[in-house]
Amino acid sequence: MDFQLTKEQRLVQQTVRDFAEKEVAPLAQEIDQEGRFPRETVPKLAKLGLLGMMTDPKYGGGGVDSVSYTIAVEEVSKACATTGVLMSVNNSLVCHPLEKFGTESQKEQYLGPVARGERLGAFGLTEPGAGTDAGSQRSVAVKEGDEYIINGSKVFISNAEAAETFVIFVLTDPTAGARGISAFIVEREFPGFSVGKVEDKMGIRGNGAAELFFEDMAVPADNLLGQEGKGFKIAMGTLDGGRIGIASQAVGIAQAAMEESVKYSQEREQFGKAISKFQAIQWMLADMATEIAASRHLVRKAAYIKDSGKPYSVAAAMAKLMASDVAVRVTRDAIQVHGGYGYIKDYTVERLYRDAKITELYEGTSEVQRMVIAGSLLR
Ligand SMILES: Cc1cc2nc3c(=O)[nH]c(=O)nc-3n(C[C@H](O)[C@H](O)[C@H](O)COP(=O)(O)OP(=O)(O)OC[C@H]3O[C@@H](n4cnc5c(N)ncnc54)[C@H](O)[C@@H]3O)c2cc1C
Repeated sequence: MDFQLTKEQRLVQQTVRDFAEKEVAPLAQEIDQEGRFPRETVPKLAKLGLLGMMTDPKYGGGGVDSVSYTIAVEEVSKACATTGVLMSVNNSLVCHPLEKFGTESQKEQYLGPVARGERLGAFGLTEPGAGTDAGSQRSVAVKEGDEYIINGSKVFISNAEAAETFVIFVLTDPTAGARGISAFIVEREFPGFSVGKVEDKMGIRGNGAAELFFEDMAVPADNLLGQEGKGFKIAMGTLDGGRIGIASQAVGIAQAAMEESVKYSQEREQFGKAISKFQAIQWMLADMATEIAASRHLVRKAAYIKDSGKPYSVAAAMAKLMASDVAVRVTRDAIQVHGGYGYIKDYTVERLYRDAKITELYEGTSEVQRMVIAGSLLR
């Protein structure tokens, strides 16, 4: 067992940390206040190869391992959680299924531009009536000649405000339940495709989560991703990898909150001394450091298992369950360390607390992660 990062992984960490501090962090507060999608950051992420990190270089990706990817998502999320999820969605939820299930021509046409960051990706699974129960889709695709005509809608689709290439999931056989779901590659320009309301959210306020509408949208039959009826499997497999990305996002948010707390506790004086001298504050800091380290280990372990080609659903679920729980707890305690100032928007920890909550909800709620973990115990 080796707990050291490799030379390449350390290089990724330092490069992305420098980039995030210089280009991402300065925008975080404004993005949060205005709920604005960070469009100007997309080409910068692309230039550094952060939008298709694990994708094969022959399609314009970086070809790095998943551990490096977790490090990069953590560093970007530490600076701005909105930008962290933008990156995680593009890498894990769009590049990954296109590479794994796409035909050669789909990879050339769609994966390349998404991995190179020329076209931003989004992943459309959730519907108004199909959240945790993602198998209960209502959107339908009917085959007509060499096209599918798709009708339906999606909600809460991250990146939708700016994305141009979407992987969506709809029923091709409404009588077959989850086995009737198929995946399609859809372009924003397709007639009948539209993006609805961009949600006004508690945290990750610039992530552009929006509704999608499909009204008699004609999709070439060639845009079927994988086989008909295999969409649910594709979605669930994709989310396993996505959960590693979200767990990394959670670690980044928690790390930022801890660093803010350490700094503030040494500056703020009460009773004639820095509050860091009080044991109550020290214990909060110690718990933060310990829980973040444990979460990071689970995240990197899940990534390591993924890289070794072994099944990683349970490891990914454990990483996301723990890291998201820790992110919420650490950010809450970070506000406690800051006292009343932590409740004021001028202080970063106020945003971090709101940002942390989403990590317990999307890409499977914490209840879903527990179902995956318990399922592996009770087989
Ligand atoms: C900001 C944001 C971005 C998102 N981005 C995307 C995206 O890019 N693509 C996408 O497809 N979706 C996206 N989602 C959707 C997200 O994945 C869902 O919101 C999530 O899966 C939960 O679904 P739901 O909101 O319908 O909640 P529900 O499924 O209605 O769940 C409500 C509560 O019931 C619990 N629950 C449900 N079923 C069970 C059960 N069987 N046992 C125990 N508890 C249960 C849940 O855990 C939860 O606590 C996003 C959501 C948000 C808020």
